[in-house]
Amino acid sequence: MTNLPALDSPYWDAEYETMARDRLRDLQFELLTETIAFAYEHSALTREAWDEARIVPTDIRDWHDFTDKVPFLDKDAQRRFRDERNDPYGGVLCRDPAELTAINSTSGTTGDPTLVPELWGGGFVGRPAIMYRDFWGMGVRPGDHFALFLFTFRGPTYGFVQQLGAIPMLFDYDVSEIERLLRRSIEYRPTALYNFGGTMINATAEIAAAAGIDPRDAFSSYRSVVFAGEPLGARARALADEWGMPLFEHSNVGDVTACFECTAHDGMHFWEDMAYVEGIDPMALDHHDAQPITGNRVRCELVATALTNRVAPLVRFRSDDLVEIDRTPCTCGRTHARIWTIGRKGDEVVVDGVSVLPVDVWDAVESVDACRLGLFQVVRPQRAVDTLHVRVGYQDTPESRLGALRDDVTNAIAQATGVEPNIELVPNAALLRLGPPHKIPRVTKR
Ligand SMILES: [Zn+2]
Repeated sequence: MTNLPALDSPYWDAEYETMARDRLRDLQFELLTETIAFAYEHSALTREAWDEARIVPTDIRDWHDFTDKVPFLDKDAQRRFRDERNDPYGGVLCRDPAELTAINSTSGTTGDPTLVPELWGGGFVGRPAIMYRDFWGMGVRPGDHFALFLFTFRGPTYGFVQQLGAIPMLFDYDVSEIERLLRRSIEYRPTALYNFGGTMINATAEIAAAAGIDPRDAFSSYRSVVFAGEPLGARARALADEWGMPLFEHSNVGDVTACFECTAHDGMHFWEDMAYVEGIDPMALDHHDAQPITGNRVRCELVATALTNRVAPLVRFRSDDLVEIDRTPCTCGRTHARIWTIGRKGDEVVVDGVSVLPVDVWDAVESVDACRLGLFQVVRPQRAVDTLHVRVGYQDTPESRLGALRDDVTNAIAQATGVEPNIELVPNAALLRLGPPHKIPRVTKR
């Protein structure tokens, strides 16, 4: 087990979590220098991009050099490399594949999962931070039970829980597991649940009622219930409030690191000694054209660089994610930046000049009772469209009531977006088949 901090400390690693920002920036540059040398030497894709830009790691002597000279990488470049060179890792793996201890993948919601190679015990330099700092801060302590409700990335998480001194309890991310989760929660009284999204929360209401279980009792021992991947709709949030679930949002930061809400619930922290994160103008053509956006809480596109990853470090990875960033200190005492996810650049639909992202219609869909599971898809054949077309899932509605239901959904979305939508109603079950389980693509071409 790793060395544990004092049990009453709110920080896993107080020195690093509360480090003054100028010191943090110096530390970042030290780590950056090591990372770019490593990536240039071992990552074929990075080497190719840098050769094309006619730079080598020793050209990067300060932050200005970095932003001025280093080209962006993106998922398309990775996929192109993968297909052209027949390299499943898209040119970013820096190790002999035989050295890897696990290969995970992203969930593939957008149709093309990316492999996430892993090397236990040698994958990162420095002290363990991501998730350790976060879950310690949320109140997980040695001896606690910790419920894992996961799909495509179980392996690393299981070991991490044990490193915290806690005891993992494993569940599949599936509606059919909810009753077992509720019963085991009453039996073992776990303190953390990772991860439990809006669809699961909504489904819990009916499953708990049918099983005669009080969700307030089942969730009473939890200090944190972490959700990820999608924003939580108003309905799920109201249920969680009613049951006393202490919710924490969690997300991915440009495929380079992760971020979690802290107890202040005011944005998600990412650890800046693990990743260097930049905000740029989303319309930028390339790194020469990219204006940095440094203001706090201004909508920007996220570009991230791994600082401690020694398996597949991405350097200036342009994520397609629209975010807001705040680098002012948080009331929790940590000095590391906080982030808010807004949506994916590729998901934006422009209807008659009005920008609409899935997050903009979410609450409207859920506000209609028959659509309370919040299952919908924005149909986006291209970025600019004449009409906003939304496919919306429903339940418990007879054929004869569908016309009225369509009117309700149309009005709710029109009010939320200022755009009159064209609504296509589909039974929930049909939309869920588009999964991965219980998470559907929110934007589709057809
Ligand atoms: Zn905080």
